[in-house]
Amino acid sequence: TSQKSAAHVVAFASAALNTIREHEETLAQMDAIAGDGDHGRGMVRGLDAALTAAIWASKGGAGVGSTLTRAGDAWAEHAGGTSGVLWGSALRAAGRIIGDDNEIGFPEILQASDAFADALTRLGKASLGDKTMVDAVVPFVVELRNASDGGQTLPNALHLAAAASFSAARATANLLPKMGRARPHAEKSLGNPDPGAISFALIVTALADNAAH
Ligand code: ADP
Ligand code: MG
Ligand code: MG
Repeated sequence: TSQKSAAHVVAFASAALNTIREHEETLAQMDAIAGDGDHGRGMVRGLDAALTAAIWASKGGAGVGSTLTRAGDAWAEHAGGTSGVLWGSALRAAGRIIGDDNEIGFPEILQASDAFADALTRLGKASLGDKTMVDAVVPFVVELRNASDGGQTLPNALHLAAAASFSAARATANLLPKMGRARPHAEKSLGNPDPGAISFALIVTALADNAAH
């Protein structure tokens, strides 16, 4: 069953890559407003490498944790840029906490989401409201836990959490950037959402849609 679950990681990575490819140009334009315009390309490169690594790991019989860890390594190595390093180490942290022995259910998904958010904030040192991907990640994690406490099924909870993440990502348009390349261009950034927050919301939306069937 661990091999079957690792195949889910491949399916998720593939769904995530599809949505990021579809929005590559939009993400590039968003990043060009107050950043360097490479966010679309970087996310495609990172996810493409992550997907390839996940396929190899899964074919080699790796469990879910190792598959995620190797995907994270590949992402960080190939994306280039801040978001690639952050995604890579957050995925590695999620993979480490899940491990290869467990069946993956709602509790494991909650643990992995917490580990992802913790690793991201530990490395990037951004707080909520600094106009980074953290502003989309935290609402996702919070809503996932609320939905779990409220007795929702995992597929429903993922949809609720992805929706919360998306509205929070859009709402970053009203914030001034405090971290990363956008910070010196605060006024230009006002009125436009943070690209890393939007790409995170796109990815968890694809995960939620993929988990439903
Ligand atoms: P780069 O800025 O190196 O070109 P990208 O364009 O790929 O990297 O990613 C930019 C995104 O990275 C930002 O929109 C933001 O969401 C995220 N980011 C930048 N710095 C941080 C940080 N310190 N913590 C969390 N996220 C960050
Ligand atoms: Mg950039
Ligand atoms: Mg860059």
